Amino acid sequence: MGRRCFFFTECDADATIIIPSSKMPLCNMHFIKYTENRVWKLIDGNALLNSKTKEKILVAVSGGKDSQALLVILDELFHKRIHMEAVFIDLKIGKDNYSENSLRYTKELCDKLDIPLNTVNIMEEQQYSIDDIISLKQRFHEKGKSNRLSKKESEFVSRGECSFCGEIKRYHINKFAAENGFTKVYTGHNMNDEATKFLQNLISMNLLLLVRSGPVLDSNNEQAVPRLKPLYFISEQEVILYTYLKKIPHIETNCPYSKTPSKKFRKIIEDIDGVQNGAIYSLMKKYQKTLKPLLVNSVQELNTYSKCNKCGMLSSRKKCAYCRTTEFIHKYLFMADAGTKTDSEENEFNLESSSDHDSSYFISEDSDFALPDFQNDVQDFYMDELNEEEKSDFE
Ligand code: SF4
Ligand code: ZN
Ligand code: ZN
Repeated sequence: MGRRCFFFTECDADATIIIPSSKMPLCNMHFIKYTENRVWKLIDGNALLNSKTKEKILVAVSGGKDSQALLVILDELFHKRIHMEAVFIDLKIGKDNYSENSLRYTKELCDKLDIPLNTVNIMEEQQYSIDDIISLKQRFHEKGKSNRLSKKESEFVSRGECSFCGEIKRYHINKFAAENGFTKVYTGHNMNDEATKFLQNLISMNLLLLVRSGPVLDSNNEQAVPRLKPLYFISEQEVILYTYLKKIPHIETNCPYSKTPSKKFRKIIEDIDGVQNGAIYSLMKKYQKTLKPLLVNSVQELNTYSKCNKCGMLSSRKKCAYCRTTEFIHKYLFMADAGTKTDSEENEFNLESSSDHDSSYFISEDSDFALPDFQNDVQDFYMDELNEEEKSDFE
C-alpha cells in the first residue's frame, strides 16, 4: 500500500508525489495547493507586494510550460485583487512556426483567465528577428572558411543563439514594464533553469552574476523594474506535474534553436539530483542564505550604473549590451555584401569609439550567465569586467 498524503492536516487520499525538498507525501489536490503556497510564501516573504503603493504586475509569458504555469498560479493567488497583465515578446522565430504557435497558447490562456496580454513585436522594435541573427551567423561562418574573421565577427559567431535571445527578451520586457508603469516583472524561470546558470557562473567564477542569482532582483531605479522569479525553488518536474494536473495549455515542442551548451549543464544538474534527491534545492537554498550575503558585501561597490547614451536605459557602459548588439547587427544585416568583406574593408565599419573595444564587444553585461559558450577565456573575460569597472546592470 502506498503512503498517505500528509498536508499539515489529515487527508485520506494516497500520495502521488513525495516533494524532494520537504519529503512531504502529497495527493494531487494537495500538491497543487502546496505549489501555490510555496509561490505565495516566496512573494510574501520578500515583501514583494507593497500594500502602500498600487502594485501593477507584468508577467513575462512565452507559451512554454513555466510561464503558463506561473500565470495560472498567480491568477489563483491574486485573481483580480492585483492589477496583472502579461507580455509576450514576439521573437519572430519562423522556423517550425515556433513564435506563432507560442503566441497562440499564450493568447488561449490569457483569454481563459481574463488577463490582458501585450505583445512586443521585435521586428517593429528593432527590425531584425532571431532568424535574422541565425542567418547572419551563417554568413560569417561561410566567410570564415576563406577569410580571417575580425574579433567582433568571431565573437558574434561563437555566441549562442539563446544568449542573443535572452538579451533581447530581458531588454524589451524591462523597457515595456518601465514605460508602462509596472511595479514588478514576474518571470517563469524554474529551479533547474536557475541552477544551470548558477553552475555556469560558478565554473567561470563570475561573482557579479553569482551575486545576482536569486529569486528577487530588486532595483530602486525607475528604469530597471524589480524582477521576481516565483518558481525559483520549484523544480522542473514539479512544474511539469502542476501543468499536467491543471491541464494548462502550453507549447510542447522545443524552440528550434535550443541547442546551447547550457543543455549539458542542465543534464549535470539533473544527474546531481539523481544521486541525492533534493540536493539541488538544498544547494540553491543554502547559497541564498549563507554564501550570497558574503558575496553581496564584497561585490557591492562594483554595482554602479549610468544611462546608455543610445537608448537611455540603464547600463554599465556608454552603450548598453543590447544597443551594441543591435548596432552590429544593423550594420551587417542591411548591407548586401555583409559577411563577405575582408578584414581591412571591415575596419571602415568601426562600430564604436575605440575605448569600448578592449573587452568582449558582445558579452552582455546583463547576461544570465557569464559566457555564451566556453570558447572565450574565462579568466580574461572576468578580469576585463573588473578592471574596467564596468558593472553589471539589470539582469
Ligand atoms: Fe530564445 Fe533560446 Fe529560448 Fe529559443 S531556446 S526561445 S533561442 S532563449
Ligand atoms: Zn491530500
Ligand atoms: Zn541602450
